[in-house]
Amino acid sequence: MAGPECVLRRSCATELMNIADSFADFSRFVGIRRDIHAHPELGFEEHRTSDIVARLLGEWGIEVHRGIAGTGLVGVLRQGSSTRSIGLRADMDALPLHEANQFAHRSTNDGRMHACGHDGHTTMLLAAAWHLAQKGSRFDGTIHFIFQPAEEMGKAGAKKMIEEGLFDRFPCDAVFALHNFPVGEVAASRSTRARSWRRATPTASRCAGAAPMRRCRTPASTRWPR
Ligand SMILES: [Zn+2]
Repeated sequence: MAGPECVLRRSCATELMNIADSFADFSRFVGIRRDIHAHPELGFEEHRTSDIVARLLGEWGIEVHRGIAGTGLVGVLRQGSSTRSIGLRADMDALPLHEANQFAHRSTNDGRMHACGHDGHTTMLLAAAWHLAQKGSRFDGTIHFIFQPAEEMGKAGAKKMIEEGLFDRFPCDAVFALHNFPVGEVAASRSTRARSWRRATPTASRCAGAAPMRRCRTPASTRWPR
């Protein structure tokens, strides 16, 4: 982020609107997210989730590498001639909790629940992969889609992936990740730690999509408390 005040340029806003348009039918991803939510798996046990991710990436023409830290996997998408590369990362594991929700896609694995939103993270990264794999997608270089096991409970799935050669096999100039927090705010940080971030409250204007993101305020005094 360039500074306490960032303004997305017009080209970025246009790009965001194009991305939004490409998801005119995003019911598919709603279905994927609900399916993963209904079948939560603990860290290093994300076999079903990993299978779904691998199958979808493969269907979209993305090269798939499995078995990194057990259930972890990486999708590789190359385009153009640039040698630069980035990583986009999501975590896949659930928590050992009983889900009390009664909606149709509540957990079917008693004592397991996607209470931290990793079902959403996994689906968002799948959606990004789908979008970027579309013909006409504009990037030059390599994108590594990193699906990490075992973020919860101190199991350190990311550390295990790195120990097993994640960045030796899939070098990244930068890695981007997010953690959802459904209160209508967006946070961003240059930090290497997800918990050390700055909050941004988009100033909503006329419509959903790019417009609310046109101006992002990041007051340095408002830091996430954990
Ligand atoms: Zn989480």
